[in-house]
Amino acid sequence: MIDQSTVQKIIDSAQILEIVQDFVSLKKRGVNYLGNCPFHNEKTPSFTVSPAKGIYKCFGCGKAGNSISFIMEHEQLTYPEALKYVAKKYNIPVVEKEETNEDIQEKENRESLMIVSGFAQKYFTSILFDDTEGITIGQSYFKERGFSQQTIKAFELGYCPDKRDAFTAHALKNGYKLDFLTQTGLTVANESYKFDRFAGRVMFPVHNIAGRVIAFGGRTLKNDKKIAKYLNSPESEIYHKSNILYGIFQAKRAITKLDKCFMVEGYTDVISMHQAGIENVVASSGTSLTVNQIRLVKRFTNNLTILYDGDAAGIKASLRGIDLVLEEGLNVKVLLLPEGEDPDSFSKQMNSAEFNNYIADNETDFITFKTKLLFSEAQKDPLKKATLISDIVRSISVIPDSIIRSVYVKECSQILDANEEVLYSEISKILGKKFDDNRKKEFYANSNTSTQSTSYQQTSTPQVNKQNNICEELEKEITSLLLTYGNEVLFTARDNDFTGLELEAHEFVTVAIYITDSIFGEIDDLEFANLLYRKLLNMCFLFLDEGKQIDLQELTHHEDGEISHFAAELLGGGYTLSKLWERGDYVRNTTEITLKKAVPKKIMEYKEKKVDLLLKEAEQKLKTTSEPEEQKQIMQTYLNLKRLQMHLAKSLGDRIVLK
Ligand code: ATP
Ligand code: MN
Repeated sequence: MIDQSTVQKIIDSAQILEIVQDFVSLKKRGVNYLGNCPFHNEKTPSFTVSPAKGIYKCFGCGKAGNSISFIMEHEQLTYPEALKYVAKKYNIPVVEKEETNEDIQEKENRESLMIVSGFAQKYFTSILFDDTEGITIGQSYFKERGFSQQTIKAFELGYCPDKRDAFTAHALKNGYKLDFLTQTGLTVANESYKFDRFAGRVMFPVHNIAGRVIAFGGRTLKNDKKIAKYLNSPESEIYHKSNILYGIFQAKRAITKLDKCFMVEGYTDVISMHQAGIENVVASSGTSLTVNQIRLVKRFTNNLTILYDGDAAGIKASLRGIDLVLEEGLNVKVLLLPEGEDPDSFSKQMNSAEFNNYIADNETDFITFKTKLLFSEAQKDPLKKATLISDIVRSISVIPDSIIRSVYVKECSQILDANEEVLYSEISKILGKKFDDNRKKEFYANSNTSTQSTSYQQTSTPQVNKQNNICEELEKEITSLLLTYGNEVLFTARDNDFTGLELEAHEFVTVAIYITDSIFGEIDDLEFANLLYRKLLNMCFLFLDEGKQIDLQELTHHEDGEISHFAAELLGGGYTLSKLWERGDYVRNTTEITLKKAVPKKIMEYKEKKVDLLLKEAEQKLKTTSEPEEQKQIMQTYLNLKRLQMHLAKSLGDRIVLK
């Protein structure tokens, strides 16, 4: 934890122009600066920096934020990491607080393990380049594999001498403690002996996201079947195999830029593809994919393509793990390589353009891939086909987005020659069961988050989905109004006639008060469904409670990246608002008058649409439940909503002036 005053000092010192110019060359254009966006490929610059506002915004890809979020995005760091980066740039000492002795010790231990790993990497690399054995054995092997000097440097490859303890002795001589050498697994030791785990192997260091070495893989150069071809570092305090992807450090920028990630099997696949010009590639290194690895990918992109060697048995075995990926909401594609090829061998046969073409032509969406693969076997056997349908349906049902689910249902019903309705009813069975389990969990955890609305969403139809999107768009517009104009006075006593409010002469209602009252004033269900907008609404509500003003500028520094991004986007020329202007809802230069119309109108529109949506969901729920108690409850909600709907219609009629 960095203490608040230091955080403030860092934020105050960070000059957006100085920060961005370390990475992007900018030209002055009016009061702002302009350059090529570092976050997407472009030829004409659309990336602007406003020193006055302290923000950047790209009109091409929409990325926006402040100095800290620029570093987070560009260097792919967490918030505290980015703060430390900026602190270092401006020579601000970072005081970390509230750490127990244990925390400190653990951190020191971790740091020591990383230092010793970094030391080892440098040693292995220097052996590869400067030592006779390293050159003749290690370098020739890499040359034979076709790795260029540049590639060897980019992945910091090395060689560990084929002597019992050459590295261990060297490290001890340089003052590194045996304890750290054994904790990282670089040295294997007991009372009577110490030796190098990786003796006689070419070395592949594993980097964490920030580029520090945390582990190694070593490949033997001997043709002895009794020796493992690859040896990996054991798990340690700094290396949790299931949390890391090999190559992520070298790939992260390309993944972000191309908005896509390739997943391969191991070290040499990553390196060969990288050298062939495909840099957005990582490997899960010997383990089947884990949720944490998928989340790591998700920090950079939602699009994942898994490369398979063309061996049917192996493919089928790995299919199961992929539902996990679907569940995280990634778009998964599969690329099957020709028989007998792996990414390493295949990438050597063509240049990067050809490889990219091959990928584009041959990658298949995962569910389609799985369906076709399994269907070819099950076609003639009705029993097998039934099992297959339930298998496919299970894969579809874990996809969080219901629109995407419905696309798959369509596609798979065609491939499987099965009725869409059948697939849908299978899916709702699965989702229904899932819902029960979740609800049980939630009940015991005594949490009051709205499981109901998520359950409705899960079983929803495309029609409900569309309605959902309309509501979310309105939530966004209302939040934008709230943050941009929240502090402005909306109604005074002079407006009493058409507001129906009974304000005294000295009383007034601001935009923020009006919006929060309208949303929180009615039944609970009117709360925003989108978490970001809900967070912001709650936050403004608390501000009002504490007598504070809404400060959009300050929100661009908010710790929550989503919030600061949204605020910066609004401040930086209002994508959202400009959209509102264009629609002619109101005009910018007569803000006060137009707000009087726009704010209540948006709120009304939102309530109407939201109630509509809730009614539809309740209807649907009524159809699918058979439990009398639950039916009664839903009926009650339904009637309340109907009443609210009538009330809304009436007030719309009463106040034509607002329309
Ligand atoms: P060969 O020269 O015999 O093809 P290789 O070094 O290319 O050997 P493969 O057996 O082809 O290795 O392995 C395929 C991929 O899996 C490679 O990228 C390799 O780096 C990786 N790999 C193999 N074994 C392991 C392991 N135990 N741990 C991590 N990665 C591994
Ligand atoms: Mn190989």
